Amino acid sequence: MNKDEILELKIEDIGTDGEGIGHVDGYTLFVKDALPGDVVKAKVIKAKKSYGYGRLLEVIESSPDRCEAKCPAARACGGCQIQHMDYAAQLRMKQKRVKDCFTRIGGFEESFIDSVMHEIIGMEKPWHYRNKAQFPVGLNKEGKAVTGFYAGRTHSVIDTPHCFIQFEENDAIMEAVRGFIDKEHISVYNEETGKGLVRHVLTRKGFATDEIAVCIIINEDKVPKAEKLVESLLGACPKIKSITFNVNKEKTNVILGEKTEVLYGSEYIYDYIGDVKFRISPKSFFQVNPVQTKVLYGLALDLAKKDTDLKNLTVWDLYCGIGTISLFLAKEAGHVHGVEIVPAAIEDAKENAKLNGITNAEFYVGAAEDVAPSLPKPDVIVVDPPRKGCDEKLLATILKHNPPKVVYVSCDPATLARDVKILCEGGYTLEYIQPVDQFGHTVHVETCACLTKSGH
Ligand code: SAH
Repeated sequence: MNKDEILELKIEDIGTDGEGIGHVDGYTLFVKDALPGDVVKAKVIKAKKSYGYGRLLEVIESSPDRCEAKCPAARACGGCQIQHMDYAAQLRMKQKRVKDCFTRIGGFEESFIDSVMHEIIGMEKPWHYRNKAQFPVGLNKEGKAVTGFYAGRTHSVIDTPHCFIQFEENDAIMEAVRGFIDKEHISVYNEETGKGLVRHVLTRKGFATDEIAVCIIINEDKVPKAEKLVESLLGACPKIKSITFNVNKEKTNVILGEKTEVLYGSEYIYDYIGDVKFRISPKSFFQVNPVQTKVLYGLALDLAKKDTDLKNLTVWDLYCGIGTISLFLAKEAGHVHGVEIVPAAIEDAKENAKLNGITNAEFYVGAAEDVAPSLPKPDVIVVDPPRKGCDEKLLATILKHNPPKVVYVSCDPATLARDVKILCEGGYTLEYIQPVDQFGHTVHVETCACLTKSGH
């Protein structure tokens, strides 16, 4: 196999980044934008000894799962990876990925996994589901402002006047910002030189409250002609309740800087997940698909409650973020202890507890594996770790405390299966696996699993 060679091949599988995988004479080729079932023509762009990467040139025979991507920028944009795959097929693919992780990495029998695994819960409406856009600002060849996602693995901005996964008002808001930049001759930040004013635009919508916030991130201390910006934003979207700017003068990939100032309205908007209220500032973390978050965390709560009266019990919520699961649990449990490594998230968690009149939840800053050993003995443990999964030390602490139930919320089925295997080797039984799709048209899949221990 040589670089620039053009090959015809059948795509047989799909990789974790959504890339098609096929073989030619025992050689493996990864082809972005190709689907299992496609026969494609691809050009080799990188050739290693036993595998290589190809660029899709033509779909000769179409996979039954293939559909037309809605967004013209879908292929170039790094936001979606599999818009060219029918939504029902996306769900089947995610279901299979979770199952394969449990059999291959977890070492479980396929028939056992079939008996505990439920069919993935997809979105009712897999479009315009995100409540937050964080678009970099760039310039096109004509020198006009563009906003959008970065192209996959790069830092060039893909002009995305319509984004099909963002909340619908986002298009008009971004257009107003672009119009302001062009009309008022405002400069745009250049990552290479570190010069220019506007870096990013951050928008957010409370789906339950219909409140919208806009924050523009700039490379100086003031927004020139700010009143014009406010005027055009309010003209574009009357739901805007907060306009702020944030100052970031650092040469960094981190989007937000320290200082945020209000240009219009309040620094905060509010939203609900279920009946828990959240206060959201530009810097707050908040789940980006509140509809499916309610499904996923509602399920975590249901599993925690199943056959267990939480009323007087002690529950840990490890990797608790802003305390979304903790606050859900606190409404039912005796006492909740949330642990999270990011101090600002814990401040939000405490604030949100107050906002909801919740007094039986306590929050601690620190690594879950370091803090857990000193917490009061748990009856139920809930974990929601980042992709790398739970720290080994934490799994050892869970096995030492040996609570009757562990609920594991995961954003990576590979590490979920790895950790569940360890817990099962320590005497737990895997009772329930439920995948949930929170991010349609991307390759991500969330899973909630429940483990129990008999003999309590
Ligand atoms: N349920 C949370 C989100 C969990 S995402 C919510 O709704 O807000 C995973 C979280 O784990 C992130 O907030 C991340 O900052 C945190 N985290 C990462 N490593 C950690 C560690 N070692 N100990 C505790 N928290 C950690």
